[in-house]
Amino acid sequence: MTSTAVHLPIPRIPRVRAAAGRLQDNPIVGHKRILLAAPRGYCAGVDRAVVAVEKALERYGAPVYVRKQIVHNIHVVSELEEKGAIFVEEVDEVPAGAHVVFSAHGVSPAVVNAASDRGLHAIDATCPLVTKVHREAVRFARDDFEILLIGHEGHEEVEGTAGEAPEHVTIVNSPAEADTVQVKDPSKVVWLSQTTLSVDETMETVNRLRLRFPELHNPPSDDICYATQNRQVAIKKVATNADLVIVVGSSNSSNSVRLVEVALEYGAKAAYRVDYAEEVKQEWLDGVETVGVTSGASVPEVLVREVLEALSDAGYRDVEEVKTAEEDLMFSLPKELRQDSTGQRDARALGGRASGGGA
Ligand code: SF4
Repeated sequence: MTSTAVHLPIPRIPRVRAAAGRLQDNPIVGHKRILLAAPRGYCAGVDRAVVAVEKALERYGAPVYVRKQIVHNIHVVSELEEKGAIFVEEVDEVPAGAHVVFSAHGVSPAVVNAASDRGLHAIDATCPLVTKVHREAVRFARDDFEILLIGHEGHEEVEGTAGEAPEHVTIVNSPAEADTVQVKDPSKVVWLSQTTLSVDETMETVNRLRLRFPELHNPPSDDICYATQNRQVAIKKVATNADLVIVVGSSNSSNSVRLVEVALEYGAKAAYRVDYAEEVKQEWLDGVETVGVTSGASVPEVLVREVLEALSDAGYRDVEEVKTAEEDLMFSLPKELRQDSTGQRDARALGGRASGGGA
């Protein structure tokens, strides 16, 4: 069965952030404090993709086109728009001969071919950990496996991975779908997954698949990436001790939305996602002693700092970092950007910025 392409509209970027009153320092019984999860925020793949757009703008001048949101964060997209990036849904919106960056979520071969047919100069900012899943899909399809791709239908990453082998891929959206999905040959089935899912829910889906297909093959290594896993482990530890968890991240960011779900599952009495500090509501803090704070893998640290400042107004000034892992992974820039205009290796050939990274 093939995947169904669903084009999600790019959310409108609010040009003017909502003006919000300062949060009030209402009295509670107990000690107000914040547990700040670490790792949080930018992962290596997001950092690389954002630097790739900045680098392309620097080198080729504005505008540089970007297919889909480069990463799922409205603040990041808005900032890049101000620098001259133009975000489009599909490559047919890009003028022939222009530069186009493919987002961190990856693209199917059909998109690569469409860009080439239009004579576009493509810069592929697909996260290398997504590319790894693409390669697995290609290899298993070549060996004539049916691929059960656990992920959310319509998500760009899932579209891109499924597009590598559309005749071999069936998308499994949830544990419940594991009970009904049909395969032709149960002895030749493998599961792969989107990189930003809940680890626990994915394993539940796999276990339910294996009950029906005992010969189900595993991927050669984890498809859920290190950054998604690390952020979930950290928020689990925080949530156990938090009355309220605030996740900074956009509504279309899969890993941010998962962090809210994981926080609720692991004991937070309430959990909310916000793009900006102004969205934190006074009533969320009623009677709250401990607030957990984290951010998704596409969120710059400045947005977390603003939430901490808002919470400080409300009396939450005691901040304790709960660190469950160290992260130092960096990826090379896309190959199209690794050399400068004189052919020298660019000093920023490795992704990563001097400041502003989160994790
Ligand atoms: S969340 Fe994981 S797969 Fe996605 S860009 Fe970051 S490192 Fe890559």
